[in-house]
Amino acid sequence: MTTHKIVLIPGDGIGPEVTAAVRRVLAAAHAPVEWIEQQAGLAALAAGDEVLPPQTLEAIERYQVALKGPCTTPVGEGFTSVNVQLRKRLNLYAAVRPVRTLEGVPSRFSDVDLIIVRENTEGLYSGVENQVTDDVVMSMKVATKSACLRIARWAFRFATRRQRRKITVFHKANIMKMTDGLFLRCARQIHQHEYPNIEYQEMIIDTGCMRLVQDPTQFDVLLLENLYGDVVSDLCAGLVGGLGVVPGANFGDQQAVFEAVHGSAPDLAGKGIANPLALLMSAVMMLNHLADTREDAACRATAERIKAAYNRALQEGKRTRDLGGDLSTEAFADAVIERLP
Ligand code: ATP
Repeated sequence: MTTHKIVLIPGDGIGPEVTAAVRRVLAAAHAPVEWIEQQAGLAALAAGDEVLPPQTLEAIERYQVALKGPCTTPVGEGFTSVNVQLRKRLNLYAAVRPVRTLEGVPSRFSDVDLIIVRENTEGLYSGVENQVTDDVVMSMKVATKSACLRIARWAFRFATRRQRRKITVFHKANIMKMTDGLFLRCARQIHQHEYPNIEYQEMIIDTGCMRLVQDPTQFDVLLLENLYGDVVSDLCAGLVGGLGVVPGANFGDQQAVFEAVHGSAPDLAGKGIANPLALLMSAVMMLNHLADTREDAACRATAERIKAAYNRALQEGKRTRDLGGDLSTEAFADAVIERLP
């Protein structure tokens, strides 16, 4: 059996707790992975390193796949987000967040099945900000044709492979005519010339958000630029039970980094009550990615077993506090382990 070397970044806040729980589940499931632990974020700073140490980047470049806990980003000052830096430095241009209703998780809707595809490298997250005068600051939204075409092509290819029927682009091209206009033109071009069989729809983002909370089942794959993708991911998490149940992955042409949509939740750190499920679901996505890219059937089988185990745990009412239950991080991990087929 092949063992895959995977970079593991515990991260900050609840990161070390949820990554430890996920490691335990994967070990119990005999997942064919060997962890190469690296630091990033406040944990790296505390160890006397940069927030994104070169050895962490090198390890991901070398081993190609990473599982990452959340890293804290200081608000309004301090260093650039580690998450943003990592995505830009490794060119992880496509973020994917599947948002699905889970049986046993209380939520407003019963049949949500959405996939968010977010452009991960530019837009307002380019970090081009200027102090114009003492009282005026500016932030530049950047859109390049190559990045817009690249994410549109990625989204349509992904939708085709996953047998999804429709892509909806959320935009604000009525106001941001140049940047969002380019994003739309590129998506239209890829649809018309390369994937005409996938249904294509455009929606102004404010209308899109209203429709999402009215009836999320009308959407299938959502394609968004960076900032909209960030905000709409959390909105969609709210449709299915919250941030504790939405996994994610960041793909480049070479590397892939798997991480939950949620952040480091400093309010919960050290209490042992965070939900490890979003990161566990991200680890399942990682195993499926290994199965796809390295043709390793053992990874697919392990992913299926873990998925079956957490689905059963939830169906039997095993839940952490964010989902209305009373289990600790570790107790939920144990509940999953006990139900591994
Ligand atoms: P960061 O600055 O790292 O993004 P944040 O607290 O601003 O951190 P999130 O970490 O995404 O943002 O969390 C928002 C809130 O959602 C948290 O305060 C927490 O109550 C809840 N939350 C997020 N993730 C989880 C989780 N895994 N389990 C339970 N609650 C969570």
